[in-house]
Amino acid sequence: MLDTYRRPLRNLRISVTDRCNLRCRYCMPEAEYTWLPRRDLLTFEEISTLVDVFVDLGVDKVRLTGGEPLLRRDLPSLVTMLAAKPLRDLALTTNGVLLAGHVEALKKAGLGRITVSLDTLRADRSKSLSQRATHPSVLKGIASVAPAGFTGTKIDTVALNGVNDDELVDLIEFGRTVPAEVRFIEYMDVGGATTWAPERVLSRAEMLTRLTAHYGPITPLRNEDGAPADRFELPDGTTFGIVSSTTQPFCATCDRSRLTADGLWYLCLYAMDGINLRDPLREGATHAEMAKLITDAWWARSDRGAVDRLAERDRLPFIPLTALKRDPHLEMHTRGG
Ligand code: SF4
Repeated sequence: MLDTYRRPLRNLRISVTDRCNLRCRYCMPEAEYTWLPRRDLLTFEEISTLVDVFVDLGVDKVRLTGGEPLLRRDLPSLVTMLAAKPLRDLALTTNGVLLAGHVEALKKAGLGRITVSLDTLRADRSKSLSQRATHPSVLKGIASVAPAGFTGTKIDTVALNGVNDDELVDLIEFGRTVPAEVRFIEYMDVGGATTWAPERVLSRAEMLTRLTAHYGPITPLRNEDGAPADRFELPDGTTFGIVSSTTQPFCATCDRSRLTADGLWYLCLYAMDGINLRDPLREGATHAEMAKLITDAWWARSDRGAVDRLAERDRLPFIPLTALKRDPHLEMHTRGG
């Protein structure tokens, strides 16, 4: 199943809650949010039913996201349901705060891999950036991943000029000890990033310049199919990634879509509208009817949100705060990042 740019649908990010226990300044900086109504949230059985349809249409990678997914009660039960499906990859992205208490249950349930967000190694910076004093819990969560038996762990770092741009080397060195591959993510102007400004973006080019100055020659590696991060190797074989969504978008190979916790399906992080899968599912649509709904939408997909944004002159935050307050679906934390 290919879209109008001949991109397949392989990757589904499922947000299991729009709630988060942090308030990172690049994602959820506001004091107040409008939350999705609880009655609208998909049950685990509904998510599992939808994943069956997506798997039949070619999805073989599923990532659970939020908000913060570990705030969803009994998440390992959903993992157990999804782990029984023919997926190549079943992963979780978490901010790590609650991870240490759940990591063994997640492993036992069949979760494949974990990515933890970690923007800084300094507790004071973490508190200032996330507006919460949770840094020790995050580090404890990261430390619990390998002993629980997980491999292929990743650390996601949003690289911000003037905030953590002096920690690139320290984070890579920390990643070696976990062990985890660090991926630096350029600051994106998606919904929720209400304080985004071009000068706050630490570009991929600048990151590579700084890392080369420290480590010596850096070798680009062949990219995994459709993976958002370009991967690189240091002279000693340590690898790291850069997700350069802002300065060098990778929309041309984008095979991912996003399901919100209330069952809206977004074909692009920048899409203004999602396709409501919840209502037809609750109204009794058959597997074939749901498959047709999804297929028709994917065939018509022409989204290249980050490429379109790059072409904008005088770039400002993508969605103004007033619009975000009217429709929480425009928020990145609702779409699962
Ligand atoms: S901006 Fe949209 S099309 Fe481009 S990579 Fe991101 S989700 Fe995919």
